[in-house]
Amino acid sequence: MKAATKKYINLKTPLPGPKSQELIKRKEENVPRGPFNTSPAFIKQAEGAMITDIDGNTLIDLAGAIGSLNAGHCPPNVVKAIQEQVEKYIHPCFHVMMYEPYIELAEKLNEITPGNHAKKTFFLNSGAEAVENAVKIARKYTGRRAIVSFDRGYHGRTLLTMSLTSKVKPYKNGFGPFATDTYKLRHPYYYRKPQGMMDEELDELYLNQINDFFLGEVPPEDIAAFIMEPIQGEGGFIEPSKNFVQKVREICREHGILFIADEVQTGFGRIGKMFASEHFDIDPDLITMSKSIAAGMPISAVTGRAEVMDAPNPGEIGGTYGGSPLGCVAALEVIKSLQEDGLVERANHIGDMITERFQSLQETYGNIGDVRGVGAMCAMEIVKGQNTMEPDKELTGKIVAECNRRGVILLGAGLYGNVIRTLSPLVITDDQLTEALDVIEEVIHDLT
Ligand code: PMP
Repeated sequence: MKAATKKYINLKTPLPGPKSQELIKRKEENVPRGPFNTSPAFIKQAEGAMITDIDGNTLIDLAGAIGSLNAGHCPPNVVKAIQEQVEKYIHPCFHVMMYEPYIELAEKLNEITPGNHAKKTFFLNSGAEAVENAVKIARKYTGRRAIVSFDRGYHGRTLLTMSLTSKVKPYKNGFGPFATDTYKLRHPYYYRKPQGMMDEELDELYLNQINDFFLGEVPPEDIAAFIMEPIQGEGGFIEPSKNFVQKVREICREHGILFIADEVQTGFGRIGKMFASEHFDIDPDLITMSKSIAAGMPISAVTGRAEVMDAPNPGEIGGTYGGSPLGCVAALEVIKSLQEDGLVERANHIGDMITERFQSLQETYGNIGDVRGVGAMCAMEIVKGQNTMEPDKELTGKIVAECNRRGVILLGAGLYGNVIRTLSPLVITDDQLTEALDVIEEVIHDLT
């Protein structure tokens, strides 16, 4: 294969360059090892899908701050809105002095989230905090204790959200005891289903197990909510069938259990629709959002049925920084960009380009077991052999690290640590994406 031509990636130094290395030393002395880093470099500035590091290297970003930058780095309209907001007031705290952008964003999310019912929205800072609060609201509304999540699901790193999350290493290892009254159900993973079984049979098996779960673990009348990522993110970009998701939603409705869609990663245009719930034709009782909501401003939201959202009494939910004005004005501009600049539709085009390339790699290289994705949420699963399907975590780590060293910022995922995923800004140009895919191809060629 020919070497990738580099029009956008410009490496003036090996990565990390000398200035980044200097900062890494300071980091190691002053910051604990726990918070992980994907790219070995430090950023200087960024625009769209391109990042310049402090050594002057330019890199293509296929990670988008773990899916937080669907509208790209520093969209001009968002930057302008934040600048104008900063001049007026930074943070009066909504619980002390109210401000209009909070109301405007709540109105907007009530309008654009799936479901025709009356809705209300309130704001927090992070994805985990949105999930925590969705659970509090669900418990208050139903008067029930139990929360059910799904295996391989990811909902955050706080005590409750870590308890709802599935992967032991690194998320839960040594951090117990965990929150009580959290339970897990099986979630289909068709690529790794038992041999000879049809997808529909796997769905049926897992759906039937819910009845046993109600008999053996916790009765439905004790369950406040099921929480599900419509498409699993950290778990490896795993899409269940529409039938499975709709049946789970139906079971919830039958038993007065609330259905929470955790759209922190799938939301805001990533999958070619504004929300993944639309892809499955479901109307969740509560939706959690964060990441791409505000082009990187730390804000998250819970939107839900008005009567459910009103269950907590005044003062029972909230937080000092929840729904900061900067986050609200940024989110309003992001929504405009996603809708008016056609970025939601663009997610499908980006997804087609990536999937086509990944599939062609799969034909050439025996280490690519599965290629999957919805919209621009694309992934390939790295295995020791297409026949054995044995996950190859080590090779995955090497590919991701080498892509990062060659100027493409990329992330892994998956319960077995063997999934390569793309969460690029949706403003990435075709040429930039092609160059990034060329680098991925070159790296796979060199390492396999
Ligand atoms: N839910 C999902 C589906 C996520 O993907 C994440 C983050 N990866 C979270 C919750 C937690 O979000 P945060 O890191 O902002 O707390």
